[in-house]
Amino acid sequence: MGRRLVVVGGDAGGMAAAAAARRLDPDLDIVALERGRWTSYSACGIPYLIGGEVKRLEDLVVRTPQELRQRYGIDVRMRCEAVALDLDAGKVEVRNHEQNRTFHLGFDLVHLGTGARPKRPPLPGIDLPFVGGLQTLDDAAALLGHLTSAPSWAPSGIHRVVVVGGGYIGLEVAEAFVRRGATVTIVTDTPEVMSTLDPDMGAHVTRALRGLGVTVRCGARVTGFEPGAVLTADARLPADLVVLGLGVSPNAELAGAAGLDLGAGGAVRVDRRQRTSAEVVYAAGDCCTSTHLVSGREVYVALGTVANKQARVAGANLGGGHASFAGVLGTAITKVCDLEVARTGLNEAEAAAAGFSAVAATVESTTTAGYLGAAAGPMRVKVVAERGSGLLLGAQIVGRGPGAAKRIDLVATALTARMDCDEVAELDLAYAPPFSPLWDPVAIAARKAAEAAR
Ligand SMILES: Cc1cc2nc3c(=O)[nH]c(=O)nc-3n(C[C@H](O)[C@H](O)[C@H](O)COP(=O)(O)OP(=O)(O)OC[C@H]3O[C@@H](n4cnc5c(N)ncnc54)[C@H](O)[C@@H]3O)c2cc1C
Repeated sequence: MGRRLVVVGGDAGGMAAAAAARRLDPDLDIVALERGRWTSYSACGIPYLIGGEVKRLEDLVVRTPQELRQRYGIDVRMRCEAVALDLDAGKVEVRNHEQNRTFHLGFDLVHLGTGARPKRPPLPGIDLPFVGGLQTLDDAAALLGHLTSAPSWAPSGIHRVVVVGGGYIGLEVAEAFVRRGATVTIVTDTPEVMSTLDPDMGAHVTRALRGLGVTVRCGARVTGFEPGAVLTADARLPADLVVLGLGVSPNAELAGAAGLDLGAGGAVRVDRRQRTSAEVVYAAGDCCTSTHLVSGREVYVALGTVANKQARVAGANLGGGHASFAGVLGTAITKVCDLEVARTGLNEAEAAAAGFSAVAATVESTTTAGYLGAAAGPMRVKVVAERGSGLLLGAQIVGRGPGAAKRIDLVATALTARMDCDEVAELDLAYAPPFSPLWDPVAIAARKAAEAAR
C-alpha cells in the first residue's frame, strides 16, 4: 500500500480531487470521509428538484459511494465526520455517526473539500424548525419530506414560503415554489435582489420577479422569526416555510482548529496549487479562497464551477503531478422563468473597492434581430471598464432568453485574455438574424464603454 490521502468531504471539492489524484497515482491509499448520506451530487440541481423539473433526488447524484469505490478504488466512508486534524501526529479524528463511535486515521496527505453552509444570522427564532437553508442533498431530502408529508408545524401543508435573501439561490428557490403553486415572498435588505449586480441592473430582476407574482420586499431587514411568521421592522409575514438564501460561510472550522491559515470570508487560504499553509494539506471548493483574475485580490467565491476546477488541480498535485489554478472571475448565471441573469468580473462597486477608476455603459438591445418579432427577447448589457485605458473589468446581463445571459462567457473569455473594450467591440463574432442583431449587444456595450473610458 502506498501513502495515504485522507479526503474530507464527499462532493465536488473533495471527490473530484480524489478522482484526479487516483488517475495519477494508482498506488495512493485514498480514504474519503463524508458526514452526510450522499457523494458527488449536483447541489446546483436542487432548485429544479424542488420545482419538479427533476423527478428524483437520485437523479442529482453523479457518482455513488459504490461507483467511487469500484471505479476509482476510493475507500469512501459514509456518515463519517472528520472532527479534528492533528498535523503533528498525522492523524484525523473521525466520528462515525452511523455506528456512534470515534476512531483515528493516520495520513500522509489531507485534502479538504468541506464545502460551505448557508449563513444563519443569530436572530431570535432562527432555530425554529420551519427555518432552513439549502446546501447539501441531505437538506434537499429534508425539504422534499416536508413537501410530501406536511410537517408538524404546518399540518395543512406548505403554501406560504418566505425566502430571506435575494441572491441567485434565493431566486431559484423562489421560482421552484412558484411552480409548486405556493405564495412566495422574498425579503432582502439590499436595494434590489441580486446584489452581485449593480442596483440599476438588479432592479430589472426585482421587477421581473414581481411580474411572476412573487412579493419582493427590498431594503427590508429580517429581525426574527416566530412560529408561522417572519418578522421585519414593519411587517409580520406569515410563512409555512422559510428558506435562508443569505449566502454561505465556509466550513473552515476543522482547518482553523488545526492551525491552518484562513483568508477572505474566513475560508481556508490556499496557494495556486491549492495547497494550504501546511505542506501536506490541500483544499478545494466552497471551503477555500481564490484569487480574482481582475483585481488580483484574494476572494471567497462559492461556485460549483470553481470547486470542480480547483479540485482537479489539487488532485493532480496530490497525485504527484504539477498543476495550478489561475483564479476566478465570479462568472455566474441564473434564470427566473424566462428571465436570464449573468455577471462576470467586477461590477461598478467592486471595481471602485478594488481601486479602479471605472466607467460603465449599458445598452438595451435584443437577443436576435429585432424584426424576428416574438423571438427577439429584450436584453440589457452593462460593461464596466477602466477609465483611461478602457481595460475591460466586468459585465452584467439581464434579458429574456433563450441565449441572452450565456453571452457572459464571451466577456469572461475577454477578461481572461485581458482585452480592452475596443478589442471586444471588434471581435469577429458570429451573426445570423436568429442568433443576434448584426452588432451583438455585448460588442455594442463594449464599444460604448470604450468611448466612455476615453
Ligand atoms: C441550491 C444551490 C444551487 C447552486 N447552483 C449553482 C449553479 O447553478 N452554478 C454553480 O456554479 N454553483 C452552484 N451552486 C454552488 C455549488 O453547488 C457549490 O459551489 C458546490 O457544491 C461546492 O462543492 P464543495 O464540494 O466545495 O462543497 P459542498 O457541496 O458543500 O460539499 C461539501 C461536503 O463535505 C461534507 N463535509 C463537510 N464537513 C465535513 C467533515 N468535517 N467531515 C466529513 N464530511 C464533511 C458535507 O456533508 C458535504 O457533502 C449551488 C449551490 C446550491 C446550494
